[in-house]
Amino acid sequence: MAKRKLVLTFPEDIVTKPITYRLVKDYDLSFNILRAEVTPDMEGKILLELSGDIPKIEEGINYLQESGVTIQEAARDITVDKKECIHCGLCTSLCMTQSLTLDPETKKLLFDKDKCILCGLCSNSCPVDAIKLKM
Ligand code: SF4
Ligand code: SF4
Repeated sequence: MAKRKLVLTFPEDIVTKPITYRLVKDYDLSFNILRAEVTPDMEGKILLELSGDIPKIEEGINYLQESGVTIQEAARDITVDKKECIHCGLCTSLCMTQSLTLDPETKKLLFDKDKCILCGLCSNSCPVDAIKLKM
């Protein structure tokens, strides 16, 4: 039995379709949705742990990709070092779940870890390397 933690991105045209249930029915996989967000532009993002036989997991991932879902390996953890951060806001423009935002009053970075789906999109944007991902 293997496990993979993945970030699934559903574009607007398939976000309401019942795609993931086939992972159980047709691929004999089980999954655990750890976090789910619908972004402001109606993309769906799910952090999901997939369990099953390795070949079945690969088949299930292929099925998802053929259905239009974008898949990334999720990081295990993320830290944002507030002491290093210079509050430039670059990371906030990349964070689709709005975990990273600038406080409208103080203009300081806010990080809501509960909204983060560990996609890692923000980490390379930081000019002072304040965002660290654990893979
Ligand atoms: S990894 Fe970064 S970009 Fe992705 S959801 Fe978390 S804070 Fe946002
Ligand atoms: S990109 Fe880096 S320095 Fe800029 S706000 Fe984000 S964490 Fe802070």
